[in-house]
Formats: sequence, C-alpha cells, structure tokens
Amino acid sequence: MRLLLLAPPGAGKGTQGERLAAWSGARHIAAGDLLRAQARAESPLGREIAAYQARGDLVPDQIVLDVLTPAVTEAAAHGGYILDGFPRTLPQAVAAAHLAARLDVTLDAAVYLHAPEAVLTQRLLDRASQSGRSDDRADVIRHRLQVFAATTGLLVSYYTERGILVPVDADQPPDSVTADIQARLSTLAHPSGGASYPT
Ligand code: ADP
Repeated sequence: MRLLLLAPPGAGKGTQGERLAAWSGARHIAAGDLLRAQARAESPLGREIAAYQARGDLVPDQIVLDVLTPAVTEAAAHGGYILDGFPRTLPQAVAAAHLAARLDVTLDAAVYLHAPEAVLTQRLLDRASQSGRSDDRADVIRHRLQVFAATTGLLVSYYTERGILVPVDADQPPDSVTADIQARLSTLAHPSGGASYPT
C-alpha cells in the first residue's frame, strides 16, 4: 500500500500513520520526525532545520526532499509507505510524483484528515506539556495552522483533481478515525491482482 496523510497539525496523522502501517505492512514515514532527528545533529544543516521547526515554518523543499527521498525509495521496495507530513507543498507533491514514476509505483490514496480549527488547537495545547516539542506553544501552533491553510491546504485540490483524495472526519475518537480510513481504503480498486488490504 502507498498512501499519504494530508492533515493539519493536531489532526492525528502520527497516530493514524502508525496504525495504518501496522495494519497494512507498509512503512510509516513521518516527515516531521525525520526532520527532528536531523535537527538534533550538531551540524549547520541540523541547526537550520531546528530553527524552521521551532518557528513553525516549513523547512525548504530541497532539504525536505534530500531527507525524504532515500526513505521513500527504500520503503517502495519493501511493502510500500504511509507518508505522514510529506508532501506539504506543491513543489514537493510534484517531486514526489516524479519520484514515484521513477520507482514505477503509484499512490493508492491521499487521506485528508480534517477537523475544526478550535479542536486542533485544543488538542495541540493539551499535548504540549508532554510533547517536549519546541513548536507546541500557543503562538507557534497558531502559525502552523496558518501555514497549513495557506500552503498545504492547496494539496487537497491537487489530489482531488487526481481522483485519489479520501476525506475523513478526524473530529472523532482515534479508533473511529482508523475504522473510517480502513473502510474507505477497502473500497478502493486494487489493479495489482485484486488483493485487498487486511481488515
Ligand atoms: P505538525 O503537523 O503537527 O506540525 P510535523 O511533525 O508533521 O507536525 O511537522 C513539524 C514541523 O516539521 C513543521 O512545522 C515543519 O517545520 C517541519 N516539516 C515537517 N514536514 C515538512 C515538509 N514536508 N515540508 C516542510 N517542512 C516540514
């Protein structure tokens, strides 16, 4: 299975990404986690990434592609991937499509997890004390939600036009969100031999 999770901060893409990976056998590739791991490195690149993340700004596309491409390439050869937080800009989406074509694979779906902004803000504030993340602060949370609306949100129409957008209501308990995603994915066509995902 090859999926991407398109979702604003706080929608639960990390939680759902892990569950979908366990369910399908595909790898969970979390862009934010991979970038945070790079940011911990005591290097000029690490410090640059850390600064973007702490402000809630997107890390420049080329850096993101350099970090994500090897992980996606490797996963494509081992049961597929659940992309969590990548792509997040139009140039990243175009680069991801080129990469998939080069690897001779296609995306099954772009799962769009949506929830009202007040719900997202409250969830992020609630987890802030445990997350230890520099960007889980009220002002940065507000900025991350604005960045999603202004930039990543455009990918909703990009994947709608490509016929693979699967919108799911993320304002429900995690188990219900997982069940909804699985139900929607199970109804997708499987051109590669008709096999369906485990239920
Ligand atoms: P959230 O969606 O809650 O903001 P993430 O861990 O997905 O959490 O992302 C945290 C931060 O990592 C983003 O604010 C951004 O700085 C950086 N980041 C993650 N993915 C990308 C991406 N695809 N492109 C650019 N920056 C990214």
